[in-house]
Amino acid sequence: MNSKELFEKSLKYVPGGVHSPVRSFKGLHTTPRFINRGKGAFIWDEDGKDYIDFCMSFGPLIHGHQDPEIKEAIIKALDNGWTFGACEKYSLELAEFIVNKISFIEQIRFMSSGTEAVMTAVRLARGITGRPKIIKFNGCYHGHFDAMLIKAGSGLAGEAEASSKGVTAMQAGDTLICELGDLEEVKRIFADHPDQIAAIFIEPLPANNGLLIQEDSFLQGLRDICNTHCALLVFDEVISGFRIGFGGMAEKTGITPDLVTYGKIIGGGMPVGALAGPRKFMEFLAPVGPVYQAGTLSGNPVAMAAGLVNLKKLTPEAYTRLDKNTENVVALMSEWMQKNGFEDYSIIRYGSLFYPINMKTKLTKITDLPENMGARFKALFEVFLNKGIYLAPNGYEVGFGSLAHDEKAQAELKNRLWK
Ligand SMILES: *Cc1c(COP(=O)(O)O)cnc(C)c1O
Repeated sequence: MNSKELFEKSLKYVPGGVHSPVRSFKGLHTTPRFINRGKGAFIWDEDGKDYIDFCMSFGPLIHGHQDPEIKEAIIKALDNGWTFGACEKYSLELAEFIVNKISFIEQIRFMSSGTEAVMTAVRLARGITGRPKIIKFNGCYHGHFDAMLIKAGSGLAGEAEASSKGVTAMQAGDTLICELGDLEEVKRIFADHPDQIAAIFIEPLPANNGLLIQEDSFLQGLRDICNTHCALLVFDEVISGFRIGFGGMAEKTGITPDLVTYGKIIGGGMPVGALAGPRKFMEFLAPVGPVYQAGTLSGNPVAMAAGLVNLKKLTPEAYTRLDKNTENVVALMSEWMQKNGFEDYSIIRYGSLFYPINMKTKLTKITDLPENMGARFKALFEVFLNKGIYLAPNGYEVGFGSLAHDEKAQAELKNRLWK
């Protein structure tokens, strides 16, 4: 069966034919490609066509598909069994490796997704402070649990409403929404809710609704406000962790969060999330502390083995190469766009994340995005897909460079663009 037939069949058995909404190609010119193989920077679909992949499973595959060393580690771990629900050395080794490399982390707990990690961070922040409310920024994504499926309301500043059906008004009421970049608003909201706010949650490099690069001074301002009000600052580095350098944005900016969440790269392409921070906070978690958290498959040995090799391969030299690869890819795409009907586009880049968007002015908050971005992305996506270049199938998603997008892949990209 080809992709189209497989998708039609999927629609019968799976809601919308997909297990995560963004995979559905909704609003695009065609139906999803069913991928049957990946290698390096390339993926192949059931129709026999290959693509240079700039989605890379939305980030985890920083060394490309089927990296031989990661594959070997996975096979080796599998050889001993794949889950025990008991203590094992794989997760200890990964914990030790990360804690020794990131200065503000003393302890880490592994889970199975980024959503779980942030969900636990919310509960932990509430447990530590004894306060009910959290601040979240418009345009940041923190996973799909109730407290974070919240958008700005139409009324008062900070007031919020659910962005999904099924989230109660009570849950929405404990999440306060601010605009990125607006420190005054954050201060006002703290003043309006004295001793009520447990934590500020932010993607220090917001990369789930375009790439909304923030000033360091804004992040530092949040740090200062949290210090003043004895609230916690939580960096959600599920995308940026181990990508913008090993220690993510915390290391890059020198601004230390109280808690940090990881996912994506930390599992090497296996399902993993993690919550980390200083011991004094982490030991609020069960079984030491009163904040409950658990998981049948948490710290899964195969995922831990994959994650460890994934991270060990991220040497300083690898980051230099990763940056260079992405810079070259962006230059090739930009040049082609400017001469082939996408003159309204520019490509925003931060390290190995990039975001093609039909605007030339600065993008720092979600409301800056142009109204016709959906229609323009649809056109760009179609041209690229036909050329064998696979972007994440939604106009809000960033592109992911990888170490597999090497000179050879770049030459192939140039080839495909101009063909
Ligand atoms: C991907 C992502 C999540 C959710 O992680 P899942 O593993 O998809 O549950 C949370 N926060 C950020 C910043 C992310 O990029």
